[in-house]
Amino acid sequence: MSGKMPHRLEELEKRLEKLEKHRFEDTLTLIEILSNMTFFGGLKMKECQYAKEGQCSFFTLKSNAKGKIPIATECRINDCHFEPSHYHIELSNVTCTLCSIYKPKTHI
Ligand SMILES: [Zn+2]
Repeated sequence: MSGKMPHRLEELEKRLEKLEKHRFEDTLTLIEILSNMTFFGGLKMKECQYAKEGQCSFFTLKSNAKGKIPIATECRINDCHFEPSHYHIELSNVTCTLCSIYKPKTHI
């Protein structure tokens, strides 16, 4: 009976070690994914024709978006012709990564 307890503890220790190792690997994977997102999102944001003054000109939000959508800010786009007092989504590498509307700037 007394020999079983240390054995069980040893087993538990091994299982904990495995769990810790996996968590570390999961964390590394997550960091890798986030790094890629940041990098490619940054490229998309730089090249997208809708990205203007740090805001997305594709989505235009009416003034009632204020306070409801945390990433919506008042229009700063100089050549924007939408009705006065409206909002756009503030751009970030992450929002641009997840966006499927991306259109590269056309160079004439
Ligand atoms: Zn605007």
